Amino acid sequence: MDHDPNCIFCRIIEKQIPATIVHEDELTIAFKDLNSQAPVHLLIVPKKHISDIHSITAADRELIGHLFFAAKIIASQNGLDRGGYRMVINNGIDAGQTVFHIHLHLLSGRKFAWPPG
Ligand code: AMP
Ligand code: ZN
Repeated sequence: MDHDPNCIFCRIIEKQIPATIVHEDELTIAFKDLNSQAPVHLLIVPKKHISDIHSITAADRELIGHLFFAAKIIASQNGLDRGGYRMVINNGIDAGQTVFHIHLHLLSGRKFAWPPG
């Protein structure tokens, strides 16, 4: 798997720094967000270091699909499918991306406003 030693999520994947991991498979890892914005706030992350949406290649299509499949499994396992949840990708500076390793935010446990801020 591509790995960037300077990337905080790659370091979590390599178990070099701690995180509360809730799901792991051969392609993805999911852990609790440190700065939770909802009663449930998880990050679903591909193990391959891909910095943003525009760095996805044709070879990554199955991996990115797997990210959503993992999200569905995690949501079901945690009973989030009953009330619903929000999935967010902040892509780029203006969208508020702060960690440049693609990740899906999975937020649940409260109502969410639309449009987002
Ligand atoms: P984004 O701003 O969309 O790039 O999201 C990055 C998210 O990663 C933020 O919600 C942070 O709270 C979260 N985060 C940063 N460092 C860690 C960490 N070491 N463990 C868990 N979550 C983190
Ligand atoms: Zn990374």
